[in-house]
Amino acid sequence: MNNSTGILMVEAIELIKRYDNIYLVSHVQPDGDNIGSTLALAKAIEKFKGGIKVIKVDDIPSDYQFLPGIDMIKNYDINEPIDLLISLDSSDLNRLGLGKEFARKAKRVINIDHHITNDNFGDINIVSPSSAATGEIVYEFIKKMAVDIDKDIATCLYTAISTDTGSFIYSNTTYKTHLIVAELLKVGIDVETININLYQNRSMARTKLFIDSMNSLETYLEGKVGVIAVTQEMLKAYDAKMEDTEGLISFVRGIDSIEVACLLKEIDKNEVKVSLRSKKRIDVSRICNKFNGGGHIRAAGCTINERLPVTKDIILEEILMNFR
Ligand code: AMP
Ligand code: MN
Ligand code: MN
Repeated sequence: MNNSTGILMVEAIELIKRYDNIYLVSHVQPDGDNIGSTLALAKAIEKFKGGIKVIKVDDIPSDYQFLPGIDMIKNYDINEPIDLLISLDSSDLNRLGLGKEFARKAKRVINIDHHITNDNFGDINIVSPSSAATGEIVYEFIKKMAVDIDKDIATCLYTAISTDTGSFIYSNTTYKTHLIVAELLKVGIDVETININLYQNRSMARTKLFIDSMNSLETYLEGKVGVIAVTQEMLKAYDAKMEDTEGLISFVRGIDSIEVACLLKEIDKNEVKVSLRSKKRIDVSRICNKFNGGGHIRAAGCTINERLPVTKDIILEEILMNFR
């Protein structure tokens, strides 16, 4: 976080004080960071002045149903008055799904995010690519608001930071990450239960999908690039959902020779969600940016509107070019 972040936070808090109809929103295909940081900020604003609304833009994966305040995420009518929209963990307006319409209607937009590809779509942009998770920025924001971080808020922030750092092992993890998490543990959260909910709660359907998709692994460039795919047919076979692909791509990156791991998720016949992860060398955010996606240096994504085999060729070509 740079020096101006504190000033931007004060300005954002002034807007929160001033406006009545305040909405929070985050990106589609939700993850632990966006749900955790959204609920933490929602709970903090609730304590600060009350009346906060959290817009549901996508289904919540079962992994995060245990989070305190999860029922705050609801459908809201776009025709109601909207003063202030706070977007979390989203690099651009398109990633907000129907939240984009709320942003268009709002008098002011606050953009809180940590993606290097963020396009500063807000009136106030609190964007910190050096933060491991949006949850880290929200932690500082809540401190600035002078709201007490209780167990519920700390549980949500811990989830946000733990999931976006792969349990504190990814290269985005810094000493600040550990200092913040130490403060969260001081509050007395039940880390054992949180971690069981997040990491030791895999369904049998997800396990079978995992085994099958690993069988689809193809490697290129002497094992430096690994590609796996999950099709709608595979989901049907195991009665699994696309959210059950969580963890697959990290497993591929974990292979010794791999530098870039690629997961292709067949959303529809002509729509494939691409996830990329790298280990040490390749900037995958640059690759995804070429396809209107984005993310971070070591984790990024995009959507390509082609059939699965075509998408594979397109993305592979781009990945392999980056090794030259
Ligand atoms: P994923 O592979 O979906 O887990 O995403 C990896 C990282 O890239 C996350 O930080 C996402 O928020 C980001 N990301 C994924 N898809 C997109 C996209 N279409 N546009 C911008 N960022 C994305
Ligand atoms: Mn996210
Ligand atoms: Mn994030």
